[in-house]
Amino acid sequence: MAGAGLRVAIIGAGIGGLSLALALRERGLAAEVFEQASELTEIGAAIALSANATREYVRLGLLDELAEVSTVPTQLIYRHWRDGGRVAAHPIGDGDWYRKRFGAPYFGVHRADLQRILSAAFGVVDLHLGCRLVDLVERDDGVGLEFANGRADHADLVVGADGVRSTVRRWVTGTDDAVYSGTSAFRGLVPVENLPSLPDPRAMQFWMGSDAHLLHYAIGGGTEMVNFLAVVEAPRIWPHDGTVAGVQEDVPVATFRGWHPAVTEMVKAASSPVRWGLFIVRPLLRWYRGRVVILGDAAHGMLPHHGQGANTSVEDAFALAGLLVGARPDDLDPVFARYQALRRARTRAIQHSSRVTSSLLHLPEGPAARMRNAKVANVADDFGWIHEYDVQEALRKAGHVPVELAGSRR
Ligand SMILES: Cc1cc2nc3c(=O)[nH]c(=O)nc-3n(C[C@H](O)[C@H](O)[C@H](O)COP(=O)(O)OP(=O)(O)OC[C@H]3O[C@@H](n4cnc5c(N)ncnc54)[C@H](O)[C@@H]3O)c2cc1C
Repeated sequence: MAGAGLRVAIIGAGIGGLSLALALRERGLAAEVFEQASELTEIGAAIALSANATREYVRLGLLDELAEVSTVPTQLIYRHWRDGGRVAAHPIGDGDWYRKRFGAPYFGVHRADLQRILSAAFGVVDLHLGCRLVDLVERDDGVGLEFANGRADHADLVVGADGVRSTVRRWVTGTDDAVYSGTSAFRGLVPVENLPSLPDPRAMQFWMGSDAHLLHYAIGGGTEMVNFLAVVEAPRIWPHDGTVAGVQEDVPVATFRGWHPAVTEMVKAASSPVRWGLFIVRPLLRWYRGRVVILGDAAHGMLPHHGQGANTSVEDAFALAGLLVGARPDDLDPVFARYQALRRARTRAIQHSSRVTSSLLHLPEGPAARMRNAKVANVADDFGWIHEYDVQEALRKAGHVPVELAGSRR
């Protein structure tokens, strides 16, 4: 296949990097993945995968493995923070509504399970753990890669899938474009049996209050665990180097004192007193420089309130793989320009909408909150454009798919 000789280095074995590695392989292109962590594990974090990503995984033949470790939420429910009154509700799994509407499933999955499935499908040979990229060097015949462990490598092109605090992005734009959003989150995993006050435990539910909200959904197949994300408008400034920082044990509980017992039970039951700073990437003019390009959080880190950070990383990965077929190592600029044109406007729109959603979820009681409540009743129609997106269709519409994919695996 044309372009089969391209040497692609992917930095980061997160959802975006591993999805790209699989998408490239499906197109007949090989890649090596370099990951700073010495093993692929993440504690206490879950991902909601929506149809715009799962339709790609289904095509790759990963549906059964994913379904086995995932939970399909019964409904999406919005509730009042204190009395738990239902503000709005929509079916997801009930009546198979979501899959029928968007053509692929909605899954709540533990991030470590997803990473395990993707990395197992890719295999260990070209996955290099313990390799933290520290620098890139432009050369006439490619890009040199330097790692903290002393390893040096060389590639025709480098893809930065190294997350919101991306080293590769810094090389591309020359500055750090990550911005603390002024909001942070507590997260946790709690067995349903420890949540006696929780109504509809298999639903995905937003509990909306003033300056804070809590989202939860079940994950893990039949294990009956609830994953939650409790977001607060604090601290005003993020004083830490990384995106995660320890807090005193009573801080999460004190923050949600007075909320509905289902919320306080959940926050109390989570054993890990850790705060996640929520960072975004300011809208970038360019996603590439020379032979280096970025995707996922590195390109458009966003607030998690549409649950789309990982899903849009998957979209990026399959779009870039499609465009790289037939690419020549010495003529990557037009390919990267097409990739940016295909991806930037959509991801900016979702990034912006996630920011607006953050404010809407945190309104104090009053007329604005009542208008918000009327609006969330239409959420399925208002945000259908996010979920119905089909990367392969977008590529085809833009005239960029040279071969029809059979959906074959490995
Ligand atoms: C609290 C919270 C909840 C979220 N919930 C959802 C959700 O429900 N649904 C959803 O779609 N998204 C969600 N997201 C967003 C989602 O986690 C990210 O958008 C997604 O993981 C981005 O994937 P990525 O591959 O771009 O980056 P990451 O998953 O961050 O992966 C980057 C990888 O690069 C590695 N790396 C970093 N630097 C280097 C380096 N220098 N050298 C080598 N390797 C490096 C990292 O170790 C990591 O493995 C949430 C995010 C947060 C913070």
